[in-house]
Amino acid sequence: MKIVMLGAPGAGKGTQAKMIAAAYEIPHISTGDIFRANIKNGTELGKKAKTYMDQGLLVPDELTLALIMDRFTEPDCEKGYVLDGFPRTIAQAEALTEALRETGDSLDCAIDVEVPDEDIVSRMSGRRACLACGGTYHIVFNPTKKEGICDACGGALSIRPDDMPETVQKRLQVYHEQTQPLIDYYKREGILKSVDGTQEVGKVFASIQAILA
Ligand code: ADP
Ligand code: ADP
Ligand code: ZN
Repeated sequence: MKIVMLGAPGAGKGTQAKMIAAAYEIPHISTGDIFRANIKNGTELGKKAKTYMDQGLLVPDELTLALIMDRFTEPDCEKGYVLDGFPRTIAQAEALTEALRETGDSLDCAIDVEVPDEDIVSRMSGRRACLACGGTYHIVFNPTKKEGICDACGGALSIRPDDMPETVQKRLQVYHEQTQPLIDYYKREGILKSVDGTQEVGKVFASIQAILA
């Protein structure tokens, strides 16, 4: 199964993608997580990506595509995958369609998690992330058992530097300009499904399971 998650920053793509990955035993591939791991490890790619990410801008397609095409060569991708945060531009979506077509393959569906901009800022300001395992929590909507400590791995939680309100506004603007057009792209491809992302986490997941059933 090959799935793409669409939606604004903070819509809950990562939260749902992790649940899909666990339920369907496919890898969860988040380009944002891969960039953050590179930043943490001080790689050249991480240094380049950070200058864009800190400003709420997209990392250039060239860098992003090289990274994801390399990830697809890993053996776990044979089972399929759930892509979270990729593609984010029409050029990325076209490159993905083309890469799959070359092997006679295609995506099964693109799931758009719909959340209005008004709800996004409160989601982002309460988001807490575990850099060690990629776990994502919310101080109000999805708190950890112990404050500041990841339930999954015991790592320390932190606030992402790009979750500051000014940067969130910029990311929302970038989303509307560059990523939202993907909704029409996948509608034309005939594989778009939408879910109401304002419901609680478990209900959003139930809607997704109904789509994938
Ligand atoms: P969110 O989950 O809040 O949408 P992500 O973790 O997916 O955030 O992405 C964080 C940042 O990483 C983005 O703002 C962007 O700078 C960069 N990034 C992630 N994926 C891509 C991509 N496919 N293309 C370009 N930039 C990306
Ligand atoms: P994205 O990957 O789209 O940027 P996340 O999955 O990281 O989004 O979620 C953003 C924030 O909102 C996190 O703090 C997360 O715990 C919280 N969140 C996710 N889904 C929901 C939901 N359905 N209701 C309320 N909060 C949610
Ligand atoms: Zn963790």
